[in-house]
Formats: sequence, C-alpha cells, structure tokens
Amino acid sequence: MSHTKIEDWGLGLTAPLIIAGPCSVETQEQIQSMVEPMKKLREVQLFRGGVWKPRTRPGNFEGLGEKALEWMIDFREAAGIPVTVEIGNAQHAEAALKAGIDVLWIGARTTVNPFSVQEIAEVLRGTNVPVMVKNPLNPDLQLWLGALERLEAVGIRKLAAIHRGFADAYDKRFRNKPNWSLAIHLKREWPGMQVINDPSHICGKREMIQEIAQKAMNYGLDGLMIETHPSPDQAWSDAAQQITPHRLEEILASLNYRKVVEDQTSDEHLNQFRWMVDHLDKQLLDLLSERFEVIDQIGEFKRERKLAVFQPDRWQEVMNSRIEEGLKKKMSEKFMKNLLFAIHEESVKRQEFQISKKPTLNNAIS
Ligand code: PEP
Ligand code: MN
Repeated sequence: MSHTKIEDWGLGLTAPLIIAGPCSVETQEQIQSMVEPMKKLREVQLFRGGVWKPRTRPGNFEGLGEKALEWMIDFREAAGIPVTVEIGNAQHAEAALKAGIDVLWIGARTTVNPFSVQEIAEVLRGTNVPVMVKNPLNPDLQLWLGALERLEAVGIRKLAAIHRGFADAYDKRFRNKPNWSLAIHLKREWPGMQVINDPSHICGKREMIQEIAQKAMNYGLDGLMIETHPSPDQAWSDAAQQITPHRLEEILASLNYRKVVEDQTSDEHLNQFRWMVDHLDKQLLDLLSERFEVIDQIGEFKRERKLAVFQPDRWQEVMNSRIEEGLKKKMSEKFMKNLLFAIHEESVKRQEFQISKKPTLNNAIS
C-alpha cells in the first residue's frame, strides 16, 4: 500500500486540505463570481464543482457535462487555485483528463461498484493524476479500500479518501451517518492514507456543518470538503447544505485545528501516558489469556459430560452482570456488549474446537 502525501502532489497543497466550491457547476457567471471570494479565502486550496451529477432519482439536475469543464479551468487561471471534479465513468475520466482538471474524485455512488471503478482505473493507467475516493454509500470498509487499491494497481500514487458518511434510513439526524470509526479504521488499514471529511453530505443542512467539521479535526482527519455557493438557497442541487463564502470564512476561522504528533519522542508528557497505556494493555492481555485457559478447562468438562458449548441462561447472566458492572465504571452499554460479544465468540470457538477434537492419547487417558 503506497501513496504520495498531499504535500507531494505538485500542486502546493498542505494538510489540513480545505476544498470548497459548489455542489454543481450551474452557469459560467456562477463560477466566475466565485473567483474573488475564493482568492480572498486564503485557506481554500482546491476548488470543487460537479459537472456530472449522479442523482439518486431522475428528474433532478444532472450537471452540464463537458462544457462546464472549461469554466473550471477558467476559474483556475483566474484564481490561481487548482480544481477538482467528480468522475463517475470512463468517459468522464477521459474528458476530465483531456481538459486538464488537476484532481479527480470518485463519488459515493461509483465507489460501490467495482466494475465502474476498474473502468475508470483503466483510463487513468499511466497518468499521474491525483484521485480522491469518497466512501461507498454503505458502511463497507472493504469496498472503500478496494477502490483505492484498484487505482493503486494501475500506478496512481497520489491518492486520498473522502469521508462523506453512509446512508442510514433509520438515522434522522444526518443525511449520511458519519460512522467516524470507519474513517479512522481506513487510516489504520492503510497507514498514512489521507482522509478528507465532507461535512456537507454528512449533514445535509448547513446549520450542522461547523460542528461536524470540528469533529473531523478532533479526530485528526486531514482536511475538509465544504460545498460553497454564491447564493445557496438558489442552488440547483443540495441547496440546504450549501453555504456562502462568507459563512465558510466564519467556520474556518472558528476551527480548532489539531495536530497529529508524528515524532514519537517529541512530547514527553504524552509519552508518559502512552507508557501507562502500554503497560495496562499488557495486563489486559495477560488477564484475557488467563481467562481463556479457564474457558479451555470448562470446554474439557463439557466434552466429558456431553454438554453443549453455548448455554443461553449462563450467557444472559454473564452479559447482564458485566454490563451492569461496566455501567457503574462509566463504560457504555454498547461498548460493553461489543466487548463481551468478542470475548464470548472467541470462547465459544475454542470450546467447540475442543469438543470436536478426537481424543488424543493424553486426553483419552484423563
Ligand atoms: C457531491 O460531492 O456533490 C456528491 C454527489 O457527493 P457524494 O458522492 O458524496 O454523494
Ligand atoms: Mn452535493
């Protein structure tokens, strides 16, 4: 898994990378009218605009297509800010490359489809264009990683991910539920992968953008993509979540950027805490392994007495009492359940293995 950091994309970008611009490119005047406000906002390093809009249902504005690419290039020349557009298939990729768009991104509705991602990758083979990959609509880390890997496999090294949240019919608070753990998990699975947060598509309404953008910074994500429009309420797509350049300026000024400590030795205080955590983790592992030894002994006992591994009443009692204890110690019910499920699953597997193994000379005698 190898990729090039944003700083080395040759576009003068730095983390946190701030991307702004309208959901859709609508008119040449709209894009021209954004030159001055974007130039004034020094933090904005990359200008976005959708020219092919993947609409979930037909009948909505689907983008102006190729002709709008020229207006994006005109913007770059006038503002001195590189530009990015979404590509959803091989033809889009060809057209965007031909027009000289600086950075491409693959949208959530495309990341879900490995065939489309592969087709795009084939067009990009041999180029050195930077590509950002939005998370798929559904919370599937493997699909997200898979799309990045398909691009890596054709030689694209300038890669980043965009966290835009996941569709969840039951969650009314967000347009797309953030599931922060998935974004963080991606950074663990692909060490150093840069993840840009897209609060606009997570929130679906402009009032929440500041809060989500700050959260992204707190989690140590590497940038923000915020939909910005000269007159958001008149936008042809995603009107409720777009903000004015002025509001963007306020939000960016309010953000508390948080650093990721890269140099392990640079902060003595932090190192002391980390040493304590290392030590506690060792104790946790010693305890767990001791617990599994007892579990194995119980397995032996169940084998001899022909008892089933899973005893529902006992399991319920263990769950209830441990959750109660955990709550007293200020651990959430969700965390306790996840923890107990993981431990129990492993215990059941070990005992099942023991029960089904053929008696060896040793345990046949005992
Ligand atoms: C967009 O960025 O305007 C867009 C369509 O996003 P997503 O792919 O995240 O839905
Ligand atoms: Mn949008």
